[in-house]
Amino acid sequence: MRGPAHLASARARVRPIASKREVGGSYAVQKINYLNQTLLRVSKIAEQFAKAKRAFLDALFPIYCAGCRREGYWLCPDCTAAIRIMPLFLCPGCGRLSPGGMTHPRCSTLTPLSALVSPYHYANPSIRRLIKDYKYHGALPIERLLVGLTGNGARSLRTLFPQEAVIVPMPLYGSRERERGFNQAATLARALGQALSLKVAMPLSRIRRTEEQARLTSAERRENCQRAFACTPLAGDYILVDDVVTSGATMRAAAEALKKAGARRVTGFALAHGRGDRFET
Ligand SMILES: [Zn+2]
Ligand SMILES: [Zn+2]
Repeated sequence: MRGPAHLASARARVRPIASKREVGGSYAVQKINYLNQTLLRVSKIAEQFAKAKRAFLDALFPIYCAGCRREGYWLCPDCTAAIRIMPLFLCPGCGRLSPGGMTHPRCSTLTPLSALVSPYHYANPSIRRLIKDYKYHGALPIERLLVGLTGNGARSLRTLFPQEAVIVPMPLYGSRERERGFNQAATLARALGQALSLKVAMPLSRIRRTEEQARLTSAERRENCQRAFACTPLAGDYILVDDVVTSGATMRAAAEALKKAGARRVTGFALAHGRGDRFET
């Protein structure tokens, strides 16, 4: 068995190894080529992925004008020009017309507010969308627009505000503010303070969540609202600031808390007023 035949078979066994080694060079080259191609394919996929990701993000967060949806603007020049100061001049007590939005003397028992000033109409799509988008995304360019609008509105209605007063933003419920990371009313209060050269303070806090009360009757809602605020003791005149006023119930409840804590007069300021024709009394 261990003769030349065995050697031959040994050679035969060796040859394939040698030939594999010989072929091995091109095998490695093939492997490298394959690897290169794979890498190329991977980088092409990565590039396509990056493109897709950008397109996806663009589709998710494109910039469109808040008014006319024209691309590339937060608020285009045409829609900026179309925002008019349309103040609400309604008594916060009875909801009827009153000079400068002051509470009629006969209505002083119906509302803790001595006046309600609001420069813009919430029905303006630019105003509505800017306020909503800011509330839910807090984008800084929108914040700048709202600060500018607040300043313009406040300056043009300057005579309706008390000369000496402290500005108070409508507080958010603690967990709501933590979720959102900011309070939109506080941003507007600072803008108003700057425009009127008045100080901003935060004596009010919200001790009850009142946003989700759609199922309650209006009486229950009012009662729920009334117990929603706490206030540290204070004195003097105040301007209470919120982004939008519709029924006026929240503003009334917060103003009540300010007055119970010692405020002499409370003027309400909302950047935008809802339909603006009626308030709950
Ligand atoms: Zn536009
Ligand atoms: Zn009235």
